Amino acid sequence: MRTEGLSINLATVRQQWNLVEAVEACARHGITCVDPWRDQIAAVGLDTAVKAIKDNGMRVSGVCRGGMFPAADAAGRQAAIDDNKRAVDEAAALGADCLVLVVGGLPKGSRDIGAARQMVLDGIVALLPHARASKVPLAIEPLHPMYAGDRACVNTLKQALDMAGQLGDDVGVAIDVYHLWWDPDLEAQIARAGREKRILGYHICDWLVPTKDLLLDRGMPGDGVIDLPRIRGWIEKAGYKGPTEIEIFSAKDWWTRPGDEVLKTCIERYSATFSS
Ligand code: ZN
Repeated sequence: MRTEGLSINLATVRQQWNLVEAVEACARHGITCVDPWRDQIAAVGLDTAVKAIKDNGMRVSGVCRGGMFPAADAAGRQAAIDDNKRAVDEAAALGADCLVLVVGGLPKGSRDIGAARQMVLDGIVALLPHARASKVPLAIEPLHPMYAGDRACVNTLKQALDMAGQLGDDVGVAIDVYHLWWDPDLEAQIARAGREKRILGYHICDWLVPTKDLLLDRGMPGDGVIDLPRIRGWIEKAGYKGPTEIEIFSAKDWWTRPGDEVLKTCIERYSATFSS
């Protein structure tokens, strides 16, 4: 079994443990990298979170999440930028590899997805000086188009890379197979992301058939229809050497199981993505 290069997105065990308990459990299982969510950091307090990460020698592959830039008025958009600055500060305190951006969907009452995308671009432009000063890279995470309305109006890797290209050399992408596996252009865009040196994170889980809940029914790697060894091959060919993060929201299955069983299964299934 392999744990080297494995990161656990702490959403995967959010119902079982708080951040400190989850970090300690990962350490027990030989896992050396995690990605916490901001609400998990807030629940224990930033200082306690930083101490738990340091005491257990954890690498932090990312902090989830910043973003959610579009808003119906200027005050709302400014509030989002201010909140993102706090997210950058938390990522910096934790020594995170990046802040993951789930960019946001349409503002309430709007049907203008083009305007929402512009608000995302403007929001990241406003955030970038603070992120750069704090040495926290920003990773745009394109989400499956089923979330375009409410969570992210950036939905393909090409779109995220085009946006990063407008923003600067130091803005990157988080590649999550759950959101991107279906895209006929994925192989080419992963190669492009490698050439442009923009891969800041690689997230895996699986797409279950049928999917019973659009948000909270992600599968454990190996239980669905995503060809994870094939996509891993593309990621490696693109030159990405960072952690592979398992990120599972699973209200009716994995969140109901003992945390140690979940971590043990993550290690087994992560190892299996290397088999071919
Ligand atoms: Zn992700």
